[in-house]
Amino acid sequence: MPNNKNYNKVQVLIVGAGPAGLSAAIHIKKSKPEFDVCVIDKAFGAGNHNLSGAVLEHEPLTSLLDFAADGWRESEKAKDVLGQTITNEKILFMPSSKTAFNLLFAVKIAKWLNLGLGGMLHGGDYIVSISKLSKWLTAIARDVGVEVLFGFAAQDIIFDKNTGLTAGVKLIDQGLDKDGNKQPNYIAGDIINADFTILAEGCDGLLTEKFIEKANLERKQPQLFSLGVKELIKISPEQYRKFNANRVIHAMGYPIWTPILGPAMFGGGIIYPGTDNNLAVGMIVGADWKYYDFNPQDALTKFKEHKFVKQFIDGGTVVEAGAKLIPEGGFHAIPRDPQTNSIGKGNCLILGDSAGFVNMLKIRGLHLAIDSGIQAAAAIIDRTTKPDTTAIKYTELIDNGLVGKEMRSAENYRQTIAKFGPTFGIPLSVISNLLPKFTTEEDYKAMTEAKYKLKPKIDFDKDAFTAAAATEHREEEPSHLEILDHNICEQECAPKFGRPCITFCPAGVYEVVNGEAKAANPSNCLHCKTCQRKCPFNNISWTVPEGAGGPRYKNM
Ligand code: SF4
Ligand code: SF4
Repeated sequence: MPNNKNYNKVQVLIVGAGPAGLSAAIHIKKSKPEFDVCVIDKAFGAGNHNLSGAVLEHEPLTSLLDFAADGWRESEKAKDVLGQTITNEKILFMPSSKTAFNLLFAVKIAKWLNLGLGGMLHGGDYIVSISKLSKWLTAIARDVGVEVLFGFAAQDIIFDKNTGLTAGVKLIDQGLDKDGNKQPNYIAGDIINADFTILAEGCDGLLTEKFIEKANLERKQPQLFSLGVKELIKISPEQYRKFNANRVIHAMGYPIWTPILGPAMFGGGIIYPGTDNNLAVGMIVGADWKYYDFNPQDALTKFKEHKFVKQFIDGGTVVEAGAKLIPEGGFHAIPRDPQTNSIGKGNCLILGDSAGFVNMLKIRGLHLAIDSGIQAAAAIIDRTTKPDTTAIKYTELIDNGLVGKEMRSAENYRQTIAKFGPTFGIPLSVISNLLPKFTTEEDYKAMTEAKYKLKPKIDFDKDAFTAAAATEHREEEPSHLEILDHNICEQECAPKFGRPCITFCPAGVYEVVNGEAKAANPSNCLHCKTCQRKCPFNNISWTVPEGAGGPRYKNM
């Protein structure tokens, strides 16, 4: 939570205490102990806004820890966070609610033939909770002398009028009432000035998008997203043993793509073991879905009812839940300065999911996020006296290193599927890098009047889901969600699509109140940003709420 220490000027300011930002912070502070390195994050505490699958390729993390954290391999924390290695995996195709075929052999052949699909193999990788990983990295960062501050929500990026360089960030005012009036607990949002600013906010970061706009960065293709919804389910020890604590399962097909019934969406289900008899079950769906009445939580329900999945979770209890967007646009959606090609500009760098560093052939980005943090640190150390060229140095390191190599390997993958749809696009994606570059549209333009045919009989319990995410905001604060034009909602959206924000928001934030769509329950918001990317009229603005609001993930 905010304290009274003065952080108005630091050498390096990092927005976002996820794996990318913390890796950068640790590396810089360990290399340059004399630097003031400060990480701010809008969450209540470490790891609270971090949610992912997650499968982690170990190399960037182990190289960071070998450099910065003596004896880490023997620590209890390492055993807790990195204690599960994948020795067994299944890649299933589910044609129906009862059948499933293991495609592992075909994927192994694809790997042998050096085809993209081979990237889906995960043997030897860690199964991690990204919330726990972020908490551990926070502790390591603090050990090496980084200030990591939670409850600090940045509202805007500030530029130096004289140099044009990034000057730092402005924090949000705290203690306003719903109408914006100052309450007795009002605190004006400070400005934090910094020589270098790193944007590592995760997917679709508010400051990152403002920076891209203000600094005139461009993407060659619009960013494309998937929405992931995930539950952590406490199951019996017998079920957990039967599943196998070292096995991960990825599933394609039912209930979002089936050959006969016809839902045609990109994505699939995941089943990963946690610790303490917990099993993570999730559904990831490309946000270019076309069904106006679709909600990925409905797909999660159907997935959990599938005969193969049910055997492991029947009788279990959901102990945590959450949702987040994943950036999937790949190489062509990386925001760059058109003059220098840099990922960022001058003394401001964009990292990890904020830059869109996810390798869609592997469906993995966590190792790239950590590597981008290490490269950002190297660039800052190299350009200490020439901050205006830091983004150029960072981009050289990224493009010529692990991130660039992996992003190029999948550069046309998601666009091929977006262009041709899953039925033809997924087979074509095998040769996507040999195909010409396709122009794709933003996800929100994909919605049609088609209905999703596999709706579960019972509505998904969003209240229980939100409770399991432990999300909260101060009830009296101004809403951080704004519907921009209510006429569009009622005159265009309601008759055509039936106000889909009410259906797809995983937290039930939107409701019809007095005949109008309203963001009626902003305090339930999970900060997933889906509404901002999926409203078919691009009619929702998501701004940052007061610090410490939002979900409080612990094991996600
Ligand atoms: Fe439709 Fe968007 Fe209005 Fe919701 S906010 S009713 S999705 S136009
Ligand atoms: Fe996600 Fe928007 Fe709903 Fe918040 S209001 S949970 S950001 S869809």
